[in-house]
This record gives sequence, structure tokens and C-alpha cells, in this order.
Amino acid sequence: MTPCVQVGDFAPLTLSMGPGKRACLWVRGCPMRCTGCVTQEFIEPSFAWQETVNELFARICAAKEQYDIEGVSFSGGEPFAQAELLADLARRARAVGLSTLAWSGFSRKHLEGNRAPRGASELLAALDVLIDGPFVQKKAEGNPLRGSSNQRVHFLTERYNASHIADTQHVTVTRKPQGGTLVQGVVQYDLLHAVLAGFGVT
Ligand code: SF4
Repeated sequence: MTPCVQVGDFAPLTLSMGPGKRACLWVRGCPMRCTGCVTQEFIEPSFAWQETVNELFARICAAKEQYDIEGVSFSGGEPFAQAELLADLARRARAVGLSTLAWSGFSRKHLEGNRAPRGASELLAALDVLIDGPFVQKKAEGNPLRGSSNQRVHFLTERYNASHIADTQHVTVTRKPQGGTLVQGVVQYDLLHAVLAGFGVT
């Protein structure tokens, strides 16, 4: 059986998950339990939505065709918990000229060490940007792309630098066709939801 990625969500176009226009894949499953996790709905692993790397790459290529995206981002959940498959996907994305970015609740040091998840070195080698570290609620300071100030942005290639991160739009909120809202971006969700509630948006 072809191995599949456990998918939480996929956006073919976002302006809030890294530099420029990007597709974003949110995976499911994370071994961390950060207090105030910004994507609690993706912490538990789930096979409800699974796709092969071929299928996800087809989505990314369609997004490139339709929206002229410059890259793809991996969020979650924990992308490095599915590192082997995402490394394959990231290499394919790069081969068609796209940039690659991922978040991880693990530190870069851990990902480069002996106890890293399987496939971590392959995924690191296929990334332009890594944003690492767990979310620490008391250090949530509204930095672009960093949920909390302990997290670090690592430029693993020369494709991007700090100015590209500073220019990233903080958050995009859209209504889902099936109801509810989809929040893209790295924000303090309790604060955001309080603001949205003020506008009658749930
Ligand atoms: S690492 Fe990220 S997805 Fe995992 S619990 Fe922490 S904030 Fe949530």
C-alpha cells in the first residue's frame, strides 16, 4: 500500500504562511502538547483525510498553475512526524522551482541529532526555511510567522532572508464553504477569536 500523509487541511493559496503567495499543507499529529496550541484540531493523528505524495504534489502543481505561487509551506500538527513523506514532497516542489518552508515544535538541534524523527535530515535538506521550537504562550508576542518569541527562523538556503519574513502578512481569515472560519497565519488564537467574536464571526 502506498504510504499516505495524514492531512489536516490544504490551502492552494495563502499570503500568511511564509513569503509571497504560497500553498500550505497542514498535517495531522503532533507529539507535543503546547499550552495554547494554535492548531489544536490537528494535534491528534487521524486517517480521516489521507493523501499520497503524488496526490499532494498534484495539488501543489495545480496551485502553481492557477495562482502562480512561489512556494509551499508545511505546518501542522508536526511536519517532522511525517518527515520522510514530506521530504519527498518538498524535493518535488523544489524541482519545479518552488521554495519550501516548514514549522517544527522540535528544535533544529534535535532535528539534526541522533534522536531526530525518521527522515528529519532529508526534510531539512529539502527546506529553504525552518521555524523551530514549541509554542510558549507567555512568549507570544505577535512576531511574523513565529507563534512565540522562543521560536527561531533558520534560513537553510540563500533563497530568503529576514526581510522576506518581516514582509509576510500576519493573518488571513476566510469563511469555509461548509461553515465556520479558516484562519491562516501565526497568531494568538484566543485573542483573534475574541476580536472575531466582537464582529459576530465564529
Ligand atoms: S508543536 Fe505546534 S502543533 Fe504541536 S502542540 Fe505545539 S503548537 Fe501545537
